[in-house]
Amino acid sequence: MILYEFICRKCNNIFEELVKSESEDIACPQCGSHEVERVLSAVKGRSDASAGGSRAGSGCAPSSGFS
Ligand SMILES: [Zn+2]
Repeated sequence: MILYEFICRKCNNIFEELVKSESEDIACPQCGSHEVERVLSAVKGRSDASAGGSRAGSGCAPSSGFS
């Protein structure tokens, strides 16, 4: 499952939804419309940052032998 961000075309509500498959029908939680559009960039970038942890772990990363 992937957490995607959607924007509703009817009320412009932006919401996040866990999607199990590409064909899943997503409805806006605010107005119930199915005319939603997937926003690709935002959620993906945020999860990458937390997974990498480069900013917090750079000091004590056990990669000294690599260089
Ligand atoms: Zn809506």
